[in-house]
Amino acid sequence: MASKMPHRDGQQNARPRPHNDEPQVAPRYACPQCGERRKRYLMWLSPERLRCLSCGATYTIMGTPA
Ligand SMILES: [Zn+2]
Repeated sequence: MASKMPHRDGQQNARPRPHNDEPQVAPRYACPQCGERRKRYLMWLSPERLRCLSCGATYTIMGTPA
């Protein structure tokens, strides 16, 4: 007895979903030590100082260690 599978193609999950849809900071704000750019891994200590939660580095948006 062959039970034929019903042909159902009504559910198509063909939505374009980029893997890197995480919010990122501008390249110039990236961590100078490890290159981290994802916002949730970067903590703003002040308007121009950031802390990278990935490697623990603290730096300024000028690209210098702080
Ligand atoms: Zn880092």
